[in-house]
Amino acid sequence: MALRPILILPDKRLRQKAQPVAAVDDEIRVLMDDMLETMYAAPGIGLAATQIGEMKRVLVLDVAKRQEEEASAHPMAFANPEVLWTSDEFSTYNEGCLSIPEIYEEVERPARIRVGYLDRDNKRQEIEADGILATCLQHEIDHLNGVLFIDHISRLKREMISKKFIKAAKREAEDASGEPEAEAKRQSEG
Ligand code: ZN
Repeated sequence: MALRPILILPDKRLRQKAQPVAAVDDEIRVLMDDMLETMYAAPGIGLAATQIGEMKRVLVLDVAKRQEEEASAHPMAFANPEVLWTSDEFSTYNEGCLSIPEIYEEVERPARIRVGYLDRDNKRQEIEADGILATCLQHEIDHLNGVLFIDHISRLKREMISKKFIKAAKREAEDASGEPEAEAKRQSEG
């Protein structure tokens, strides 16, 4: 297994649509294991392949791991997940995202969903989910379509968050280049 770097907003790869996998073979199982290790280390409760720059329709999650108890760990992996049904009722969760660190916003989504997918053994499965599992699945499936949770909040909030991350990325690029001009400019900006 290997830890993979998680892409952060405004990385353009987060806006790309992932492609279905032909089958869950050894290569995809290695990807699933890497993603689980990366998710647990972050720590997070879900991770989509697009978040590590793999444009494949694969996601992992573990909503049991929320309490950080090793014994209660319940890793799940999904390939080619497809929403088959959503409830008319909605529920609201305060969502966050490993690709948009330290930002939390209320997001409303269908309270219950049914999802079809391929499991680790390439077997076709269906799952009906509610609560945090339903929210997490929808959040991760969005990622595979290039959609982020901030797309579900007000435009004003989304633009504020986007600007903040564009600024931070610029600053980091300047630090990496070590340009004295950039250094001077940043200091003058306070
Ligand atoms: Zn996310």
